Amino acid sequence: MALEELSYQVYSCKKCRLWKGAKHGVPGEGPANAMVMLVGQNPGAEEDETGRPFVGRAGKFLTKALAENGIKREDVFITNIVKHTSPQNRKPFTDEVEACLPYLNMQMSVIKPKMIVLLGASAKNTPRIEGIEYVEVIHPSAAMRFNNMGDKFRAQIADLAKRMANLPQS
Ligand code: URA
Repeated sequence: MALEELSYQVYSCKKCRLWKGAKHGVPGEGPANAMVMLVGQNPGAEEDETGRPFVGRAGKFLTKALAENGIKREDVFITNIVKHTSPQNRKPFTDEVEACLPYLNMQMSVIKPKMIVLLGASAKNTPRIEGIEYVEVIHPSAAMRFNNMGDKFRAQIADLAKRMANLPQS
């Protein structure tokens, strides 16, 4: 299945309760052949408004940290483990994560990334597939709020850039 078709499925998804309070499903964005996927928790208010992942404050913080380390946002595929926003931006419930996981699974099988960056605790529910390198990073919204986490986050992104440079090219 093509990514576009998958996006349409996300837009009309009613597999859990979250669609009721959301304006847009947010499937994710980036090249269909991206070497690297970034997976966050679920869309916040600005993402819900625009239908795009990581475009709010945390997203800008993430995009800047990536750029400072030579990683172009448009070269990676950015998505979330859960594709709809949640009431008061609460952490998605287990049944919501489970209902949404098939979308991430399908994105992974279409994109076939070499590396998946897990942003924060919720993203750790991402399926593990042999041959893919997984990198755990602090969620940018936590990194933004706490100085010590910000420093650690920047160091993690710098390390990520080095790992990306060492990825096999084919
Ligand atoms: N936080 C997330 O985890 N994902 C987004 O898309 C935006 C904020």
